[in-house]
Amino acid sequence: MKEAPALISPLLEENTMLVGGKWLAATSTETIDVLNPATAELLTRIPRGRADDVGAAIDAAALALPAWRSASPAVRAALLRRWADVIDQHAAEIEALESIDVGRPSAGPRPLGGMLQFVAGQVDKLHGESLPTHTPTNLGLTVREPYGVVGAIIPWNAPAPMFVLDVAPAIGAGNTIVVKPAEDAPLASLALARLAEEAGIPPGVINVVTGYGHEAGAALAGDPRIRRLSFTGSPAAGAAVMAACAKNLTPLHLELGGKSPHLVFADADLDKAVPAIVRGITMNSGQICMAGSRVVVERSVHAELVERLAHGLAQVSVGRWDQPVQMGPLVSSRQRERVLDYIKAGQEDGARLVAGGGTPSGETYDDGYFVEPTLFDDVDPQSRIAQEEIFGPVLSVIPVDDEESAIAVANGTVYGLAAYVWTRDVARAVRVAKAIEAGQVSVNAGGAWDAIGAPFGGYKNSGFGRTQGADAVLEHTQVKTITIDGTP
Ligand code: NAD
Repeated sequence: MKEAPALISPLLEENTMLVGGKWLAATSTETIDVLNPATAELLTRIPRGRADDVGAAIDAAALALPAWRSASPAVRAALLRRWADVIDQHAAEIEALESIDVGRPSAGPRPLGGMLQFVAGQVDKLHGESLPTHTPTNLGLTVREPYGVVGAIIPWNAPAPMFVLDVAPAIGAGNTIVVKPAEDAPLASLALARLAEEAGIPPGVINVVTGYGHEAGAALAGDPRIRRLSFTGSPAAGAAVMAACAKNLTPLHLELGGKSPHLVFADADLDKAVPAIVRGITMNSGQICMAGSRVVVERSVHAELVERLAHGLAQVSVGRWDQPVQMGPLVSSRQRERVLDYIKAGQEDGARLVAGGGTPSGETYDDGYFVEPTLFDDVDPQSRIAQEEIFGPVLSVIPVDDEESAIAVANGTVYGLAAYVWTRDVARAVRVAKAIEAGQVSVNAGGAWDAIGAPFGGYKNSGFGRTQGADAVLEHTQVKTITIDGTP
């Protein structure tokens, strides 16, 4: 492991996390190394927070709660807007931090400020209802109240938007929060928390405890003082978190993995579909929960599509985040091993390897965690590479005879996060979109992220609950019914 300068951004102070408005080391003083996945260089060190640090953060969030929840919604909205402005001013810096930490070549700053502005617009419109009553003299109404101290555990693949999408609706609705970022890519979360401070969000409203999942994450999920938890990550960790929450009956929102299909019909515009499919599986090196990793294609266009996909994947330039390339490394050596194991499993299960399948060679790739964009054809829909989330740049093509079998194959996994339908036939597009079991379906387009207010979440084992959109703010409130006896 090579050493690198400790200060990689003025927004970060090495070995500190945010607890109650103070930037602290873990009480144990232990640290975790954060590595650059393109070079294996040490970027910085973060605190290895454990249960006592999580406990201190929950105490701080509890202390900040009464003032925050009773602040006028207009005040909370104004602070979210100020945070959005400060983030916009530092957009390039946040983007660079996320890119270097995850290894993702930058595609330009993410619309983080816009996400916050959307939530800010919801905050002062959270209202209850007046209710019909049996007794004419009574008055019935509902109010929406925050849960209290809530928690969020986020993954490494898109840490900046994950942080904003979990924190903004939570605090906007009047909760205070403790966030546990992923140990592999914590830097953007820490920087965004620093900017929240700069925007004037009071101490203790946002707390960030860094650490490992089985230590800090498990402590957060298992603490009875957490009134609601939001978890985004793998199904295995999600199940562990759900079991921990069950002990305290903590309400839980789960955003888990996917095995999202493209359904490509014979009448599809392949000029449009092919680049979108290639981009979808190589962006962030395929480490995107909604990546289209299966291509279910009608047999009459199968051969042409495979040829064009192979060509498209071969054109994808691979390199470091600061080079003008389309794809970077995977986030860690562990993740690379996992992806290479799946590639081996695909070959063992009889799928035909058409492109990629190994690690790229050359000096640029010597120390980083790179894998070639990989294409398998004639994949058995029941095989591991067609059923399990690989979370890497590996595409599996499954030919089918007709629309009915395309839908059956598309729905034939435990997941239900996203699906992409490619056809020129509007009636078919409507039929298929309705038949697909997934939280978001895109027709002739690569993704649902274009709609900033769109609720986002899974069907089946991809999770439950929604982030983004008005639903996300509502989900951070609970409804209280108040009945007033109006008889004199
Ligand atoms: P992961 O499950 O390994 O880790 C996610 C987070 O959970 C990390 O912060 C980790 O430290 C923590 N964690 C791990 N074990 C824990 C435990 N026992 N208790 C508490 N916390 C624990 O996932 P990852 O590898 O960081 O992320 C990749 C996964 O996330 C993929 O499956 C991907 O599909 C999913 N994901 C889903 C969405 C979505 O919106 N549905 C978005 C992004 C990522």
